[in-house]
Amino acid sequence: MKKGYFGEFGGIFMPETLIPAVQQLEQVFISAQQDGNFKQELEKILKEFVGRPTPITFCKNLSEQLGCKIYLKREDLAHTGAHKINNAIGQALLAKRMGKKRIIAETGAGQHGVATATAAAFLGMDCTIYMGTVDIERQKQNVFRMKLLGAKIHPVDSGSKTLKDAINEALRDWAGSVETTHYLLGSALGPHPYPEMVAYFQTVIGKEAKKQILKMQGSLPDAVIACVGGGSNAIGIFKGFIRDKKVRLIGVEAGGRGIKRHHHAARFADPVAGRLGIIHGSKTFVLQDPDGQIDNTHSVSAGLDYSAVGPEHAYLRKKKRAEYDFATDTDCLKGFEELSKQEGIIPALESAHAVGYLIKHHAEFKDQVVLINLSGRGDKDLEIASKELGVKIE
Ligand SMILES: *Cc1c(COP(=O)(O)O)cnc(C)c1O
Repeated sequence: MKKGYFGEFGGIFMPETLIPAVQQLEQVFISAQQDGNFKQELEKILKEFVGRPTPITFCKNLSEQLGCKIYLKREDLAHTGAHKINNAIGQALLAKRMGKKRIIAETGAGQHGVATATAAAFLGMDCTIYMGTVDIERQKQNVFRMKLLGAKIHPVDSGSKTLKDAINEALRDWAGSVETTHYLLGSALGPHPYPEMVAYFQTVIGKEAKKQILKMQGSLPDAVIACVGGGSNAIGIFKGFIRDKKVRLIGVEAGGRGIKRHHHAARFADPVAGRLGIIHGSKTFVLQDPDGQIDNTHSVSAGLDYSAVGPEHAYLRKKKRAEYDFATDTDCLKGFEELSKQEGIIPALESAHAVGYLIKHHAEFKDQVVLINLSGRGDKDLEIASKELGVKIE
């Protein structure tokens, strides 16, 4: 395969000024993978600070109800409440290795900003988070968290004042600060080596899960299900099972209010708007209009609400090694309520897409073993969920 590509997907589509930065990053990523000391340091932090390995949990009640054996990989129990910290710590260590003491990152809902600010605080680095002003208004709690953690928030008031504008601004900063600064991208997206590197740092999920399910269940699962925003938690768990051809790998995108233009973020499910395009440095599936303008998206969960998907997922789909489907906002809320009531686990709305998908399609998995990647916990989503479910809190 061409370097930096997954089949026809991926690559490096960046302005000249940033090419040396991504090349330097690729070099340090390659050398770190071959360095036992780097791996030891990463492992130590994942164990002592992040709380790994996260367990897998058998869902007795939901399994009985749905007629299949359901296990959850508990990324909700990782420090900061989701898988994003695995990647943030990994990249921050690479930044140190490059002698860079300043980290910048984009954030939409604030989850990646919090994970990055946490990693920067832990490793004693300077941190600036780019965030759209619309998102700042919507996500005040996470803004305060990042400030507490010592990060500076850089408000972005251009364009739609949300995630994609924050990425543009962060890239602009990076072009002028590459000597001292690492851009810590939050998902398996962007130019090479980011998709491969983020997948590498998230593969810990799949490696642990495979060992754990073999021990607990005595066999591999029939299917692994994960929600797909940019695709980092899904690629992380998929990688653990990718060579086990009998294991179905199922990625669940955000179907929003259904597959109508601008009402969802299901890049693979929309046969008209979901097309090959170039966005933020990478060639992949992007929701766009006939002229190539990026579409607006909608999802009840902010973490899945992005118009592009990571290039490796486009490749796995083309190769038919993984399947992709979607869950609507309604399916997601159903998963959110059921997992809370039946199992005592309140999932992130992102992760609830995977649960809602299984509830909807459970007949297809009769008597099978299903492993769901529970990418995060739902504490951050309580306000939105209570509104959506029409539950008055006072
Ligand atoms: C950000 C986020 C996601 C989506 O990102 P991926 O890169 O697709 O994993 C999913 N779940 C949670 C809990 C998140 O915070």
